Amino acid sequence: MASPRGIVDDSLWLDNARVVPSGTSYTSVDNSATGEEIAKVRSATSEDVDRAFDSAARAQKQWAGVSPADRVAVVEKAADILEGMADDLAATMQAEVGTVASQVRGAQVGLGLAAIRLTVASALDAITERERIGDSEVVHEPAGVVGAITPWNYPLFQVALKVAPAIAAGCGVVLKPAEVAPLTTFLVAEAFAEAGLPAGPLNVVCGSGASVGSAIAGHARADFISFTGSVAAGRKVAMSAAQWGTRTSLELGGKSAAIVLDDDKVRAAVRHTIGSCFGNAGQTCAALSRLIVPRHLLEEAEDEVRAVLEQVVVGDPFDAASTVGPLASQEQRNRVVEHLRVAGETAGVRTVASKDVSHLTRGWYAAPTVVVAGDPSAPIVQEEVFGPVLAIQPADNEAHAIELAEGTRFGLIARVWTDDDARFESVAQQLRVGGVIQSDAPTVWDAPFGGVKHSGYGRERGVYGVEEYLVSKSLQRGGSKG
Ligand code: NAD
Repeated sequence: MASPRGIVDDSLWLDNARVVPSGTSYTSVDNSATGEEIAKVRSATSEDVDRAFDSAARAQKQWAGVSPADRVAVVEKAADILEGMADDLAATMQAEVGTVASQVRGAQVGLGLAAIRLTVASALDAITERERIGDSEVVHEPAGVVGAITPWNYPLFQVALKVAPAIAAGCGVVLKPAEVAPLTTFLVAEAFAEAGLPAGPLNVVCGSGASVGSAIAGHARADFISFTGSVAAGRKVAMSAAQWGTRTSLELGGKSAAIVLDDDKVRAAVRHTIGSCFGNAGQTCAALSRLIVPRHLLEEAEDEVRAVLEQVVVGDPFDAASTVGPLASQEQRNRVVEHLRVAGETAGVRTVASKDVSHLTRGWYAAPTVVVAGDPSAPIVQEEVFGPVLAIQPADNEAHAIELAEGTRFGLIARVWTDDDARFESVAQQLRVGGVIQSDAPTVWDAPFGGVKHSGYGRERGVYGVEEYLVSKSLQRGGSKG
């Protein structure tokens, strides 16, 4: 089934059917490469959110009664069905996010499917595990009704990280995708229905964060709110949920650093870090947007930056030659341009290389740029740009490198470039982040992912992701009988 385009009036996914919400306003979805509107999606109202929670709460009890193996089988089947929709998923995300052709199969479709399959691989054990503590047996039950709010950068992956474990665990879900990129979500909902998910456990409402998102976060019937997005919105979500004492998980922003320790790794680190920072046009929460290099290697690092940027091709996401596409929305493009303007006026910040995008007169393009920032308090070091902008920070020694890496309010991930395992571990232990990876080791996609400090709390992916959707209950046997 092709993703919806044009006017989408039946944007409410309720009880496995498309329904027209009661609202009369619409949000626009743009083609990021041209700026042209590709869809107008009718927004839900707080009454529609109530209906979605009613449906999820009603269905959740029955869904929790289905055996864990059968629930997991539905999730697995949904992954198979989505795999068959790969072309349509890729085209939809290329248009609504602007991800380039060379990355959309792997970073968007592939990662989204992997998130579901890795959930399937670990869910059954996590759900059925029983632990004995004295006379008590600890069992794991569904967390109940979940409000899930997702960002636009990876529409399939972000939705999959919440919906797959929630459905496998036996929860009911009210999901709100980002208004910038909601079209992929309809395909996901249809795939779960086709996979045999009964009507009710999965419901989708569309609309803005301020109205529909906050109605979900503050809903009295929510048992758990799983949020991924910006720090500012995450705080509002936590405050809304707190009025009912509802548990929350917040996957927020980052300003993650790659730290070069071994001198002979600097060129490889530059290449890898630019790849991470410019991937999906920089719109990745775990993007390495800072590179900390020994001061005596700064010149070598800058030479490598210029060589790498020679190879960067900014252009249409549907053009196979493009390596960096547009930002997902005009608003995001304007934010990135403003960050670049401020960086240009900040003392101690100097541009090493920047790609000219002035020929790209339509669409939401911003210039991929690498700067050197001598002052750790510079906004380009402190603020998440969420665009293809890398800040290099020179360090005097290992202790200084750690101090620089630790010098922001964020704490999502880090990479440490050294062949020395003991040194890697020692530095990793000193970094307050959710995960540290050595050199160019590939990401393990079912290892727990999440932040500390302002990057949030809660973990997603693999078994840790499933556990977020379960609550422990102890059954204590014994007492006098007869
Ligand atoms: P955003 O916070 O503007 O929006 C994210 C979602 O929250 C959207 O669905 C939006 O409609 C909703 N929302 C906005 N305000 C809300 C409110 N007051 N109440 C409830 N919901 C609200 O973020 P974005 O611009 O879509 O995404 C970019 C941000 O997300 C970046 O900061 C990025 O680092 C972060 N992010 C984090 C992760 C992670 O796993 N840590 C992953 C992807 C993106």
